[in-house]
Amino acid sequence: YEARQHKKNVLFYEPVMSEKRSAKLVLENDLRQAIARNELIVEYQPQLHLASREIESVEALVRWQHGQLGLISPANFIPIAEETGLIIPIGQWVLKEACMQAKKWQAQGMFIKVAVNISLGQLLQDNLTQYVQDILAETELDARYLQLEITESMTMNIESITTVIQTLQEYGVTIAVDDFGTGYSSLSYLKDFPLDCLKIDRSFIWNMDQNTEGDALVLMILSMAKHLKLKVVAEGIETEKQLVYLTKASCDTIQGFLISKPLPAQVLEETFNEIESKAQRLLEKIYEEA
Ligand code: C2E
Ligand code: MG
Ligand code: MG
Ligand code: MG
Repeated sequence: YEARQHKKNVLFYEPVMSEKRSAKLVLENDLRQAIARNELIVEYQPQLHLASREIESVEALVRWQHGQLGLISPANFIPIAEETGLIIPIGQWVLKEACMQAKKWQAQGMFIKVAVNISLGQLLQDNLTQYVQDILAETELDARYLQLEITESMTMNIESITTVIQTLQEYGVTIAVDDFGTGYSSLSYLKDFPLDCLKIDRSFIWNMDQNTEGDALVLMILSMAKHLKLKVVAEGIETEKQLVYLTKASCDTIQGFLISKPLPAQVLEETFNEIESKAQRLLEKIYEEA
């Protein structure tokens, strides 16, 4: 380790380049084994539909329970998976897991849509549509209970991915653009790109604070989405104040720690009614106060 002087004069240690690189190699090797070793898990974060006041969907989020290192967040291994191509088997595994789970829930009377994140590497793969179809057939999940989340930066590959997106939509799968507003891409793709939903990035939500520029951006996204007939999910809702604001602005759906953090399937099942009624009480209170 080498010591470095931080701006605020706090001394901190950081691994030198070669150590960082070898740590990454170890992680990469372990990641190759992760599926076979059953170390990947999917958690599900509820999304609350404001008009119906019901949890109509969940987002599937992968985690890695590493033998020695403990729980690793996707932010720390999805980039490695993307660089190494491991995102293909991992993505396929997550998709199947999520579809199986949604089908299981249906058998218990819980009809909720599941949203699964898709990386660019998966979209550019020539058999994505085929394996989505295979997984839907195998799990017997109706396609309208599956949403795929792509990111805005992927729309730069508009020619190569439009057909794929259209084919998926023909099956009945819906498509959301994740982290909307952070992609630095031209908005022009919105008019000719087939989409169903925009997910407002949480950085916009965090900057919301009565009559600030942050509010203006959220309002603009909501109004634009309405004109384009797209649904909107606001991500990262942590406070009641944010919920009040988004309710007033007629946002369709919200997702965030205020409602629930991502949970293992079984925990979600056990607490689903509790989470939903807590959210309903919150909305009632907001409507009463309005
Ligand atoms: P994302 O798709 O934008 O997912 C939302 C992230 O925000 C999740 O982080 C979630 O736990 C977090 N979040 C939700 N509500 C709140 C909130 O109120 N406050 C805060 N601070 N955070 C909130 P997570 O699970 O760590 O995932 C990070 C990213 O990793 C995801 O961002 C997504 O880009 C990627 N990812 C996760 N699972 C998969 C996967 O199966 N495949 C691919 N390709 N990427 C995935
Ligand atoms: Mg997402
Ligand atoms: Mg996001
Ligand atoms: Mg993201």
